Amino acid sequence: MNRVRMYIDGDFVESSSDAWFPVYDPSTEEIIAEVPDGNPADVDRAARAARAAFDKGPWPQTTAQDRGRLLFKLAECIRQQAAELAELESRNCGKPIVEAEYDVNDTATCFEYYGGLATKVLGSVNPVPDNALSLTLKEPVGVAGQIIPWNYPLAMAAWKLAPALAAGCTCVLKPAEQTPLSILQLAKSFEEIGFPKGVINIVTGFGEGAGSPIVAHPLVDKIAFTGSSAVGKLILRSAADSIKRVTLELGGKSPNIFFADADFDAAIDGALFGIFVNQGEVCSAGSRILIEKSIYSKFVDAMAAKAKTIKLGPPLDRSTKMGPLVSKEQYERVRSYQEIGKGEAKLVSGGGRPQSFAKGYYVEPTIFADVDNNARIAREEVFGPVATLIPFEGESEAIRIANDTPYGLAAAVWSRDIFRALRVVKAVRAGVVWVNHMQPTYVEAPWGGYKQSGFGRELGPGGIDEYLETKQVHINLNEQPIGWY
Ligand code: NAP
Ligand code: MG
Repeated sequence: MNRVRMYIDGDFVESSSDAWFPVYDPSTEEIIAEVPDGNPADVDRAARAARAAFDKGPWPQTTAQDRGRLLFKLAECIRQQAAELAELESRNCGKPIVEAEYDVNDTATCFEYYGGLATKVLGSVNPVPDNALSLTLKEPVGVAGQIIPWNYPLAMAAWKLAPALAAGCTCVLKPAEQTPLSILQLAKSFEEIGFPKGVINIVTGFGEGAGSPIVAHPLVDKIAFTGSSAVGKLILRSAADSIKRVTLELGGKSPNIFFADADFDAAIDGALFGIFVNQGEVCSAGSRILIEKSIYSKFVDAMAAKAKTIKLGPPLDRSTKMGPLVSKEQYERVRSYQEIGKGEAKLVSGGGRPQSFAKGYYVEPTIFADVDNNARIAREEVFGPVATLIPFEGESEAIRIANDTPYGLAAAVWSRDIFRALRVVKAVRAGVVWVNHMQPTYVEAPWGGYKQSGFGRELGPGGIDEYLETKQVHINLNEQPIGWY
């Protein structure tokens, strides 16, 4: 068996209990590796290593320039093994290889971006009304605990590691149980690149055994979590005990809003891409498709017809547009929502498992029309290729339905009327809003949600702030006693 060890304090190690768990190829349902089942003692070891690396050793002495260069080297190392990493990511997640290649490129770009930003963290001078110099300094927050999901394993790791390392933090990162392989592959290069031991630790394991002890650990200063809102709530509660700083990037039920004046062909493509890219396993998936009534039936027919032509296939086949879902658990979850939807709305495309695959967690791209926004399939995050089509009449109804959700991660609006598009942009309560597009994500621009989609922002210049403390320094320039007594 291909046993891949986790990375703690500069070494590849097994768990202290020597327990292992399997990692699958979701297209064949076969086990492709085993990784250590990390437990609280392993997390403790990683947290102590990260704490020691933050408090002493070479890391606190590295300059911002040094850290920037290390991140550039890491990016270069990713680009050198891009093909290998993309293949591993595609095989482990089930995502089409072409999409995995995009992800690997984005991962490298993220390290480059924060490598450059490391030397642009600025303090400031405060205009206090006294003979004094008042400074604001920015300092790393300390040990960052980072917990990520399985849909974009490498990119999610980069979104967390890159700003943390640029800021001067040290990290304990837990990949999702389903997809630990690509980040462990990358970890093989950490030492050679020049990261001191303990600066980056990767603990594999499950939420309960490895995730929750990171959140509770007294030596961890900050938690950055991406995952479901349900787990986000648990993390927030647990972090309260030690008043940890927390940022949460959670789920969504994002509206993709189409007005009648939008370019029709672009609209159909945008609706399909918004929900079916990465098999719909996207936090910002445009899962509620709001369509103006005057184009509604034409839109439903065109979208359903085109969805039937989407090519499902093995992830490593370059012509594949949709691979299998990541796991059996996710497959069963999406299949159950397909059934729930059949009782709630009108099925117009897909709705089951494709006939052509004997093995693998494949599901058909599925579209329900005439969906009530109160239906479960319109309210609950499916996190799979299930679209709900909802008609609306006029701008104010579109906005009302768009905002009628506990989530607020993303939204998109399609119209050639700039005034209307911008009114909708302002009215929608979401952290990311696209106009005449859906899903492009750039490391240069902030990412995060409103409402129950979480708080804090990753990416962009502000992404590093989540890993910085603010210190006020007051320097008295009077040489006399205060003279109060
Ligand atoms: P999840 O079940 O919430 O798990 C996310 C991570 O948290 C995993 O590593 C998981 O470990 C860990 N975890 C589970 N229980 C925990 C606990 N009690 N304490 C600490 N950690 C715990 O989410 P998922 O199924 O992996 O991913 C899908 C969700 O992520 C969706 O809701 C999606 O919207 C969201 N997401 C959001 C964004 C964004 O940017 N907003 C991006 C991607 C995904 P296990 O591996 O054992 O499950
Ligand atoms: Mg999970």
